[in-house]
Amino acid sequence: MIDWQPTDCHAHSRHSDGALTVAEVVARAEVLGTRPSVADHISRDAPTDVRSPEAVERYLDDLERYPVLRSGEFCWHDALWRELPPSTVRRFTHRVGSLHSVRLSNGHFFRAFSHELPHALTPKLYMRAHVASLEAMAKEMPVDILAHPTLVPPPLRQMDPHDLWTERYEARAVKALRNAGIAFEISARYPPHERLVRRVAEAGVRLALGSDGHSPDQVANVAVPLALARSLGVPDDALYDPARHGSRTGAFAG
Ligand SMILES: [Zn+2]
Ligand SMILES: [Zn+2]
Repeated sequence: MIDWQPTDCHAHSRHSDGALTVAEVVARAEVLGTRPSVADHISRDAPTDVRSPEAVERYLDDLERYPVLRSGEFCWHDALWRELPPSTVRRFTHRVGSLHSVRLSNGHFFRAFSHELPHALTPKLYMRAHVASLEAMAKEMPVDILAHPTLVPPPLRQMDPHDLWTERYEARAVKALRNAGIAFEISARYPPHERLVRRVAEAGVRLALGSDGHSPDQVANVAVPLALARSLGVPDDALYDPARHGSRTGAFAG
């Protein structure tokens, strides 16, 4: 298709913790030749103004004024996504789900941005909780995309992802996403390791491009995720585009 453009399925505006207005997100995407989304945090446990069902309606009212895909980044561990009526959900072109906290085996949640891991929470135990949380989220949460699937706390980012992710963990994550029909985001902000993305693609799980941009230089810039998808032989038009592939929100039904 001649006029194919990459879709940035995940970017932030000033409705949450982004630096740009919605109009500026749209303008930045136009410069980069990308189709823009706004996917601000929608959660009571994230830096955002969108913290109630009423605020979600106002957020969508605003996004509808612009030529932009209307999304939101929902924390799995926060209950707000469970409170939205179907009439609100249908106003989203697509929804993004995130594991900003993982559920430990003792039932407590642990933030994925924690700068320190308690001594007892070894990398191995953290990854066990991460993968189990991913499986639970895929079962429970009717989103279209799992954001930054390899996001882990900063101390673990120093480790080789091939040590964190056993092949068995990778296979479990792929299976959970495939069964749920959730796309795997290739994040520009938290880049996944190639072995996992290859496994995802080979299993027929859809890939989505996400800048997860907050600043002007990040928003709508999906060049690196797109290059990775292409290097794995994924056709451009197979990359998730809600208008083309539909959405679990029901926005494109009928
Ligand atoms: Zn996130
Ligand atoms: Zn984000």
